[in-house]
Order: sequence, then C-alpha cells, then structure tokens
Amino acid sequence: MPELRQNRFTKEWVIMATERAKRPEELRVQREARPPLPQYSETCPFCPGNERLAPPAVLEIPSNENWQVRVVPNKFPALSREGPLTRKIERSRRSLNGIGIHDVIVETPDHALTTAFLPVEQVAEILRCYRRRYTEVSADPRIAHVTIFKNHGVAAGTSLEHPHAQLIGTPVISSQVRNRVYEALRHYDEFGECIFCEALIEDLEEPARVVLASELFVAVEPFASGSPFATYIYPRRHMASFGDINPAEIIDLAAVLKSVLAKLYVGLQNPDFNYAIRTAPHENAGVLYYHWYISVIPRLTRVAGFELGSGMFINTVLPEAAAEFLRNINPQGGGPVA
Ligand SMILES: [Zn+2]
Ligand SMILES: [Zn+2]
Repeated sequence: MPELRQNRFTKEWVIMATERAKRPEELRVQREARPPLPQYSETCPFCPGNERLAPPAVLEIPSNENWQVRVVPNKFPALSREGPLTRKIERSRRSLNGIGIHDVIVETPDHALTTAFLPVEQVAEILRCYRRRYTEVSADPRIAHVTIFKNHGVAAGTSLEHPHAQLIGTPVISSQVRNRVYEALRHYDEFGECIFCEALIEDLEEPARVVLASELFVAVEPFASGSPFATYIYPRRHMASFGDINPAEIIDLAAVLKSVLAKLYVGLQNPDFNYAIRTAPHENAGVLYYHWYISVIPRLTRVAGFELGSGMFINTVLPEAAAEFLRNINPQGGGPVA
C-alpha cells in the first residue's frame, strides 16, 4: 500500500509509491562511460593561469603555489551588482530593478576534482569562504536573502565542469523561504520549541533515517522525502542562520559534507546533484524558531506533470531504505569514476 507522508516543516504532502518502489541500486546512473576530466583545461575560466577569463576576484585564499579558493563575480550574473534598488507598482503589478549579488566560488585549482575527493581541510576552507561571503553580502542593505548552492552535472543545471558553487543575494525573500519560516514560527508559538531541534531529537531516537551523525552535525533522509536520496545535514546546535556557524562546526561540517557526497558518489555512480544552504533570511538571524540546514538533492528522476500540477511529489525510494543503503557504503573503498 502506498503511503502519504507530510513534511513536518512545510506541511507539504509526498506520495511514497512503495508499489513501484525501487531498490536503491536500481537508481544507479546508467550512462555511457565518460572520459576522466583533465586536471587543467585551457578554455576553463576557473583554472589557474586563466584568471583573466573571469572578472577580478572579490576574495582569494592564497596557497604556496597560487590560490586555494577564489570567489569571482559571475560573468553572466542573474542580477546586477551596481546601483540603487527601485520598486515599481503599477495597478496590481509589482516589480523591482534587478539588483543583487551573484558570486562564483571556485572550490579548488584542480579542474578534475569533486568535493567527495577533496581533503577535509580544503572543504573547510571552501565553507569558510561561503561563510565570509554570506556575511559580507548579507550586510548589503539592498540584499534581503542569500542562497549558497552547488550544481553538479548537466541534470543539475551546470554548464561548467570545474568544481564551483554559487552565491546569489536577492533583494526579496521568496514565498517558499517565507513559508518555511512562518511554519516554523507557528510551531514555536504553539509548542515553545524549534521544530527542527525537535525533529532531530526524534530522528536520533528512532535512527532508521539517519545516514551519519558526527559530534556537531547529523545527516538524515527526511521522513517525507520528496525525491530518492534527498539528504539533509543539520547542525546539532540551534542556529537560525548559516552566518552563525563557528570554526569548530566548519571543520566538522566539512567532514560530514564530504562523507555524504562520497557515499552518494560511490553508491550511485557519481550522480548529478544540487545542494543548497537553507538559512533564515538575514532579518530573521538569531531567532529561536528557525534552524538552518543543507539539503543535498541527487538528480535521479525527473519532475513531471503531476508534480507541476499538484505541487505534490511522488518518491519511489523509501527514505528508510535510502538511509540504510547510504549507511552501508564505505567511500574509502571507491575512487573517482567517470
Ligand atoms: Zn578548470
Ligand atoms: Zn533548532
């Protein structure tokens, strides 16, 4: 019998289609073998020596040879960096001029690497750059919300192979983010607790959906997971904003993020994926009712008409089965595959 499950945080419903349930290994990506990437590409704007192909860096972490991590403005930004924000209201129509910040975080000088195979210290350096740019961009009075995300692979929407993430600071807060914050506030008003902290306690007491738990972070498959192997990484300490992460938490998160991505890489044969940091908007920093996290979404299935029409997802892999599968993957055993 299929089961409908309600997302505790957004109240959205998901259909767990156990009738057409797939075993996790059936979702391994079937595709033509791709040649391994070169360590350097002449035409890549993010490779060392090609810095002139990208706009001048806004942040650069030096290394002995050249640089370790670089943050550059996106050459083709979604929003424009300069100028004042102006709002327009015409009858029922609202608009703003497209002001915002669009950064690219170049995560390593090596064209061929991926987060799953970077040293933990390098991942920590990347997270430090995320945090630094998050704080700087959040301080811009024109910016209401900052989203940091990564697209890996064609199905996840990337056009460049070189390992990179992006940051977009927008002048408005989306209704999706607003609703998540409102739902968390409603829960807090009713029960006097952060629903994310509470869900974390429950998940650790009934650990069927826990992928891994470190000293400071926990990675879980959400109860009402909308897609196969969606994985959320929560800080154990209550924090509304990613900007509040401390140095010890950055190092711990680096190990957990690397480990989750390595398990997905080895278990599902280098799937395309997105991850995003879901933080409270700057104006809600420090609140007791919201709790930031990272959502990692492998792109194994396509969103189709039913999702489009109903806003409801159908998931063919139970999160408990996905968690068990990922728990049993030891990434140490596997190296990069094409
Ligand atoms: Zn490159
Ligand atoms: Zn919390």
